[in-house]
Amino acid sequence: TYEWSEDVNRVLRDTFKLNSFRPKQLSAINSTLSGQHALVVMPTGAGKSLCYQLPALIKPGLTIVISPLISLMEDQIRSLTARKIPAKLVTSTSPREEITAVLNLLKDKITPIKLLYVTPERLAKSKRFMANLQQCYAGGRLQRIAIDEVHCCSQWGHDFRPDYKFLGILSSMFPNVPILGLTATATAHVLNDVQKILNIQGCLVIKSTFNRPNLFYKILEKPTSQEECITILEKLLKYRYKGESGIIYTNSIKDSEDLAEELRKRGLKVGCYHAHMEADSRRKVHSKWHEKYYQAIVATVAFGMGIDKPDVRFIIHHTISKSMENYYQESGRAGRDGKRAECVTLYRMQDIFKVSTMVFSSAGNMDNLYGMIKYCLNGKYCRRQLIAEHFEEDWGYADCNKMCDVCSNPCSILREISLENHCKTL
Ligand code: ADP
Ligand code: MG
Ligand code: ZN
Repeated sequence: TYEWSEDVNRVLRDTFKLNSFRPKQLSAINSTLSGQHALVVMPTGAGKSLCYQLPALIKPGLTIVISPLISLMEDQIRSLTARKIPAKLVTSTSPREEITAVLNLLKDKITPIKLLYVTPERLAKSKRFMANLQQCYAGGRLQRIAIDEVHCCSQWGHDFRPDYKFLGILSSMFPNVPILGLTATATAHVLNDVQKILNIQGCLVIKSTFNRPNLFYKILEKPTSQEECITILEKLLKYRYKGESGIIYTNSIKDSEDLAEELRKRGLKVGCYHAHMEADSRRKVHSKWHEKYYQAIVATVAFGMGIDKPDVRFIIHHTISKSMENYYQESGRAGRDGKRAECVTLYRMQDIFKVSTMVFSSAGNMDNLYGMIKYCLNGKYCRRQLIAEHFEEDWGYADCNKMCDVCSNPCSILREISLENHCKTL
């Protein structure tokens, strides 16, 4: 125990209304409270936010939270405000008065807020912001710097943001202020790169497992004709996943609209979701799915944030993801209730070209796509074993429990891959 242990438990209970910590949350909290730099690696949904939100309330002073996505920060501000935790957000689009108010806050002798969320470009591009943050630091009021989605620093990650490079100066500008980086990207290559960029080499790395024992992983051969693809989806939804909720991911807006329309023509209740839709129609689609009016949503990766449906029983990838990290995150939306759920990927060679153009145009990394292809092409090794290796973990060979297509039917992979078999089994 530490001098703050009692307070930590009290805040968990009384402020966050939670009964217990999830794996590794407490070690992350203790290490940052003891003033060490640390990287926290946990799968999406594991509860990384608590690792900086809770410590912020234990000691006096301000926690700066750097995050790449405004909508994510807005969600957090909402939930913090609901818990009566004083928190604010500044972005490049905040109204001028609000920015001025926050800048003044940084200079105040007593900081009335506990957490200040900023985008990396606010740090990178505003001299005035940095000058005021310096004053906050000089007054001994800068308690901690949390960097969410910290893999965005690294070009080797799957989501590089140039503005994150600037964060390297923080450790020298604010010595003795602990930096807490958080990510769901686990490869040693990226983590080492992140430490170098942030200048916190050799810092503590706290990692929780990526194993999701209740998810069944499977690859199906994807037919060349769209017609046949739709038939596969139709059969899966009508027979294997009858009455259950799920998501069908595809890689283009056009595909998501076409597939949804074709499935509706075949009598299925499905919604469509992508970034070009109005916020209002997106909300409607989401809630119709939540209420089980829609069995499935055919979506691009734009459908991801704020999904808190625990009983998602299937995630079908109509097109492969652009990296294993993305795949893990998208398929990981299944089975949050701990009950069995299936993650099925339709794979064909032509899609590699489709996805690689996308990867190139978004300055993504081809190595990340190769990991995804390796996972799909494999017909010999346990698929969970491949996922474990990708995240540099050892789940133990015995651990699959027939929860992948290879282990559940080792001698007939090719036969298994056929749709008829897939619909019959279970
Ligand atoms: P991440 O950033 O790792 O993807 P979040 O911080 O957004 O995950 O948390 C995901 C969900 O888990 C949130 O709804 C959060 O309230 C919940 N959560 C976090 N920690 C705990 C806990 N110790 N017990 C129960 N729920 C938790
Ligand atoms: Mg998060
Ligand atoms: Zn297996």
